[in-house]
Amino acid sequence: MNPHDSRDITPPQDIIRSVVELCAGCDTCRTLMDQDCLFFPELYRLWDLEKESGITITEAELRSLVELCTLCSLCPCPKIPADLMEAKSRYIDKEGLPLTTRLLTNVPRLARLCGIFPKLVNSLQSNKAVSSLIKKVTHVHAERQLLMFPEQSFFQWAEQKGLTNRMEGSRNVAYFVGCTAGYIFPQVGRATVEVLEHNGLTVQIPPQHCCGMPHLVEGDRTTALQRVQSNMENLLASVQAGNDLFCSCPSCGYFMKILLRERACYSEAYQKSVNAGEDEIKIPKPGWGGTKHRVLKKSMYKDILKDDGYFSSLDPMGRIGLAEQLSDAGEYLARLHTEGSFNTNFTAIPERMVYFAPCHQREQKIGSPYPELLSLIPCITIERLGGMYCCGMGGNLGFKADFHDKSLEVGSPLMEKIRELAPQAIITDCMSCRLQFNHALPYPVFHPMEILARAYQFRITSPVNCSLKT
Ligand code: SF4
Ligand code: SF4
Repeated sequence: MNPHDSRDITPPQDIIRSVVELCAGCDTCRTLMDQDCLFFPELYRLWDLEKESGITITEAELRSLVELCTLCSLCPCPKIPADLMEAKSRYIDKEGLPLTTRLLTNVPRLARLCGIFPKLVNSLQSNKAVSSLIKKVTHVHAERQLLMFPEQSFFQWAEQKGLTNRMEGSRNVAYFVGCTAGYIFPQVGRATVEVLEHNGLTVQIPPQHCCGMPHLVEGDRTTALQRVQSNMENLLASVQAGNDLFCSCPSCGYFMKILLRERACYSEAYQKSVNAGEDEIKIPKPGWGGTKHRVLKKSMYKDILKDDGYFSSLDPMGRIGLAEQLSDAGEYLARLHTEGSFNTNFTAIPERMVYFAPCHQREQKIGSPYPELLSLIPCITIERLGGMYCCGMGGNLGFKADFHDKSLEVGSPLMEKIRELAPQAIITDCMSCRLQFNHALPYPVFHPMEILARAYQFRITSPVNCSLKT
């Protein structure tokens, strides 16, 4: 029986056990994923031990094993992280959510709490004794810097600026901000609005919640589904009102564009919408925006090709609609550039920076729009990093006392590479990566939108001197 089937009562340890057996039998990820993922090396270590000693992997070992998956999606088979998330959710259904998870995944609530007395909270957090007590109680690793919340969140700023109201412009865009730019790094959200306004767009901030990704990673299915349902309704209403839709966080984008729509095309509603025949299942061909399909025989595949994944309780057409309408901010600007309407009236930035393409940006398969856009800034030097590198932060997992060391271990090849390059700044669109870079490296970190906004700030009035600043 499929583990995603709602009638299925397979215990979580059995789901993990079947993942172990599948991957042990295949063995591809023993060498392919030995550096950038903590899950596979542990899976193969446990499996080899079982074979050598004849002692079966215990339930406790399977429970710990599943916690090593951060849903980075670098591994080749999407079924594996999907099954692991399902297993995590079943554990949480049984055990409830631990305090650390409840605190760390609910950034809006944390920000609201801290926002009531921001100065007091931040000064308490800066106090060594208080901060170490907070870390102990919440199981945050002693060496991690606790999150500091700015006095004004992006959402408060946007409200003051009137961006939450419907505005009439010649081209309107709705911005899904996400929690990190919304509450922790509001300068990223403000820079994004500034860049879009420099391109003649009218920005609106529609009602929104956390995308649901942190809840999914922690196995909190109920909250993840509530967040998605509400966002789907609000964002699609905004599209219907005539707005383009984009987000600046690659994890929100990956969640809403890729994970949410998985298997939705197998639903009856979708098959009806593309006029599938009685014995047909039509599957959209990648890269054709749903206009071309592969046709399979329903009688042969109906038991495998079903909309029975994690999000199957949500309207499949809404999931597909949201995935198709939402653009990554870099992708959106690159489209403006192709149309010839991207404003390239930049001032020079004679600096050498590294751009790191985060895992969830790469998994959206949208190419690498940011380095190309940033390279339009006169005098800037952009070195790209991506490939199989991962920062290791895993959303907020790196904060946890029992995951901190492993998180740094996964990120260490990337950190070494950046140290070798010794850039003047690091650019990345992922705010989890930013937290990890801030922890591990001495270089300033920016979102690409902050660099573009900076390049728009001063107009070029004299010949450009491209000698690098040191
Ligand atoms: S994730 Fe896929 S490719 Fe990797 S070991 Fe498992 S089954 Fe094989
Ligand atoms: S999603 Fe990432 S962390 Fe999870 S098993 Fe795959 S590669 Fe490992």
